Amino acid sequence: MSNLNTALFLDFDHTLFDTDEFFHVDVRGAFGHLGIDDALWEQTYERVWKAGYTLERHAEEIHRQSGNQLPLGEMRSIIDGTFSDLRRYLFSDVLPFLRRAKEKDVYLFLLSFGNPDWQRYKVLASRVGSHFDDMFFVPKEGGKAGIILEVADRFDRIIVVDNNPAELDLIKDMVSTVETYCINRVPDEMFDSRDGSARLRFLEAKKYLGKTWRYQHVVCRDLNGILFL
Ligand SMILES: [Mg+2]
Repeated sequence: MSNLNTALFLDFDHTLFDTDEFFHVDVRGAFGHLGIDDALWEQTYERVWKAGYTLERHAEEIHRQSGNQLPLGEMRSIIDGTFSDLRRYLFSDVLPFLRRAKEKDVYLFLLSFGNPDWQRYKVLASRVGSHFDDMFFVPKEGGKAGIILEVADRFDRIIVVDNNPAELDLIKDMVSTVETYCINRVPDEMFDSRDGSARLRFLEAKKYLGKTWRYQHVVCRDLNGILFL
């Protein structure tokens, strides 16, 4: 059976990519080894985020705010070395799933919210871009629905997978026939964990779990629950 008229939109952070493990555990840990304390990290992070986050800009801001004491060269070599290849942060089901979808002629879209430079870096460094027919980086929260509305006429069937139920609700408002899946990659035992390392390990992903939904999205824990046939 051909799926030429089926489109599958996949979110990136916390859906395909373990953003918390990458950013809040590993990047922060690597910079922490250079003597960057939590307060300096958080204060500089907030400031850079407003201007459009990249690791390079964050390193420059840390360097500047430390009175040029913290080593910018070492920070840059960590970014260009350790964090130039992010394939290890893709969830293990991602590549087999994308290959299976392609074998079934599903049209694959990446639909990612966030600063486009930052999102593009993570996507390209995880070497996943070539699996997609098209990629969209949406800088405005709630902007995903508009992208789907634009292409809706071209497909008989549209499936969307995201960990953010608020985006899925807005998509349903605009295109009611879309099949929506809300993915939750946080293990149940981690939801109430008070362990400090677990806090960073699921820092952002957990924030989406408490949100209320206006529509009934299909709940899944991995991509194997997505039915595209
Ligand atoms: Mg996400």
